[in-house]
Amino acid sequence: MIVIAIANQKGGVGKTTTAINIATAMAATGWKTLLIDLDPQGNASTGMGIGSEERGRSSYDLLVEGAPLADCIQGTSIPGLDLVPATVDLSGAEVELVAVEDRTARLEKALANHTQHQIAFIDCPPSLGLLTLNALGAADTLLVPLQCEFFALEGLSQLLLTVERVQQRFNPDLGIIGVVLTMFDRRNRLTDQVADDVRDCLGPLVFESVIPRNVRLSEAPSHGLPALVYDHNCTGSRAYMALARELIGRLPAERKAA
Ligand code: ADP
Ligand code: MG
Repeated sequence: MIVIAIANQKGGVGKTTTAINIATAMAATGWKTLLIDLDPQGNASTGMGIGSEERGRSSYDLLVEGAPLADCIQGTSIPGLDLVPATVDLSGAEVELVAVEDRTARLEKALANHTQHQIAFIDCPPSLGLLTLNALGAADTLLVPLQCEFFALEGLSQLLLTVERVQQRFNPDLGIIGVVLTMFDRRNRLTDQVADDVRDCLGPLVFESVIPRNVRLSEAPSHGLPALVYDHNCTGSRAYMALARELIGRLPAERKAA
């Protein structure tokens, strides 16, 4: 199973929207896909239509209780797409894991030797704490959603520094498969300027596909559906399908962190 962490320590940059829709796009393309919700807010679970009362064993059980992965997976309304949901318990995990010896390797161990799915996407919380470190420890590669705003590159350098530390300490093979520009508004000059700067700075690491600001993408979660199902023809859905095709093209030759 290829494991892709979707991370950026900034909140509201499109991690969860990207996780839900890229996972759906991969499942639609025929990949057996697992979405792992690693954010205590549980937005990916809610966005997949799994309300808090419908969540069985969760990513908390996986990380803290050592529950078997198979017990924490539940189906979704999308064929080929399964979910490990997150519950509010997970907000305690950072503290509960602090004293545990293998605290950054819990998720990696939980996912080891799993063959039921071909690809997994981990929706990370907006921090660089133990939950995100577990995701980076378990991941083969990282997908970074980047919102085109003034401080975008500064936040990114902090993330890249963390990736470097993770590579040095516990996951030497961690790659970065790409950076995707989100909430892109081509009528906004600043957005355009930032996008140019990001491409100048990161070159081919940045996906060609850009996710536009699209109201359908923000409406879909309140219906418990991926945008790709809610309105498969909206500009946002089409952008995520294009991103999935590009991602598949990059899968064998992962780009290493600079
Ligand atoms: P994160 O997981 O990084 O915190 P989200 O994916 O939850 O970010 O997105 C933050 C908010 O912005 C959500 O309300 C989401 O619906 C909305 N949003 C995300 N991407 C887009 C987009 N491309 N166009 C419009 N709204 C978006
Ligand atoms: Mg989120």
